[in-house]
Amino acid sequence: MATQGVTQTVLGDGTIAELAEAVRGQVMVPGDAEYDEARAIWNGAHDRHPALVVRCTGVADVMRAVEFARGQDLDVAVRGGAHSIPGFSTCDGGIVIDLGAMDGVRVDPQRRTARAQGGTQWGQFDHETQAFGLAVTGGLVSTTGLAGFTLGGGIGYLVRKQGLTCDNLMSADVVTADGRVVTASADENPDLLWGLRGGGGNFGIAVSLEYRLQPVGPTVIGGPTFYRGDRAPEILRFYRDFVRELPDELTTIAILVWAPPAPFIPPEWHGKPLIGLVSCYAGPLDDGERAVAPLRELGQPVADLMGPLPYTALQGLLDPLWPHGKHAYMKAGYVRELDDAAIETATRYHQEATSPASEIHFHHFGGAVARVDEAATAYRERQPPYVVNVIAASHGPEGFDSHVDWAHRLYSDLEPSLTGGAYINFLSAEGGDRVKAAYGEEKFARLQALKDEYDPTNLFHLNQNIPPSRT
Ligand SMILES: Cc1cc2nc3c(=O)[nH]c(=O)nc-3n(C[C@H](O)[C@H](O)[C@H](O)COP(=O)(O)OP(=O)(O)OC[C@H]3O[C@@H](n4cnc5c(N)ncnc54)[C@H](O)[C@@H]3O)c2cc1C
Repeated sequence: MATQGVTQTVLGDGTIAELAEAVRGQVMVPGDAEYDEARAIWNGAHDRHPALVVRCTGVADVMRAVEFARGQDLDVAVRGGAHSIPGFSTCDGGIVIDLGAMDGVRVDPQRRTARAQGGTQWGQFDHETQAFGLAVTGGLVSTTGLAGFTLGGGIGYLVRKQGLTCDNLMSADVVTADGRVVTASADENPDLLWGLRGGGGNFGIAVSLEYRLQPVGPTVIGGPTFYRGDRAPEILRFYRDFVRELPDELTTIAILVWAPPAPFIPPEWHGKPLIGLVSCYAGPLDDGERAVAPLRELGQPVADLMGPLPYTALQGLLDPLWPHGKHAYMKAGYVRELDDAAIETATRYHQEATSPASEIHFHHFGGAVARVDEAATAYRERQPPYVVNVIAASHGPEGFDSHVDWAHRLYSDLEPSLTGGAYINFLSAEGGDRVKAAYGEEKFARLQALKDEYDPTNLFHLNQNIPPSRT
């Protein structure tokens, strides 16, 4: 429809102008006024120039774009919320199939389910579901896309109460590499549903996803309490004891940060190392106050923001710290045990961080995650007590390589305490072995069989790729 000045740019046998006529959404090419905005993703570290960006408005546009890409033999970058850390949702010279405008959500309060289009962000989804006092595990930053997040697993403030987001994925409509739309559910193509629960964007483009919801809030007990960074060893030792016996309603994260110049941190602490204990208790508020009390009673907090707040406010609390354009790199794994050596390593690197924007997160796991049958989803590691995420970050390109190097050194020194597994949502572009490590041999083979069935030519390869078996 909107051609944005697209002329007869020839790509093989077809033209971009023909595609632009065939879709309802916009097609943008280099030179168009909105091209630079259209090619940008959240992670400013990836500055790429696709041949075209198709901003789809519905399933038909996605089908047309996939057909076009296949016909032209183009690299395909699929974009939901554009929060890919390794930059898979943009590319050089290929096509970006952008679902960002497809953000409709329909909640069924009776069945406690919601169906969202494939470009929906968590803030948009929560807005709709919380109108009915319902939710599913969502991202810590509300601009994150629900599709990429879910297909990779999904760890957030409700993870111990409700499990991973992918555990609550009931069905999805998927545009496959040959341009068909298939439904994956318990009744139709259940193997594909299994693969979508953790197998990433390998099997096609999820144009809509249906979730099981649970009552949450609207008020929860949550937020961070910050302590001085030089107390991090003592506080992490407390934390590992504290989390041993927690109700499922309580999800917590320990974060090692350098204080941003945020109004909720006293100015004298800006730019200094802090440790934050972040909580979300989604249950009766009195129980929640009691459950989180020990986290706030370690003496002399730098800032205590823990308390009752709307679940949607908690979901957006960290947004200002993670603006679009930030440069970020993640190196993550599962912690076998938060032993003294791991604590010493993490806290030492925290103090020596090369960038004040870099962070180290320990997500406490267990609860509902650990009770899901290992065989039920492509997602693998459910038993480790923590996921550690080392995030090298800066607000511009300067020094970014040295921050990435910091993350590598820290991760490598942590390795004796890790399981060796990988979580694909926190994985950078680390190669095939790390993707295999996310699934283990058996699940990887099953995912590869699904890839052979749904995408035998690996059209969808810009992702944490599971290549078809014949490659
Ligand atoms: C600021 C920030 C905060 C984050 N917080 C969390 C967190 O709290 N918990 C967590 O688990 N992860 C978190 N992540 C990681 C996040 O889950 C992944 O980056 C995820 O891939 C983002 O999904 P997206 O749709 O926004 O990404 P996009 O960049 O749009 O897509 C990433 C990949 O997902 C696939 N994909 C996206 N949409 C579709 C679709 N509709 N159909 C098929 N495949 C699709 C594609 O393979 C694509 O390459 C965070 C990332 C960032 C940048």
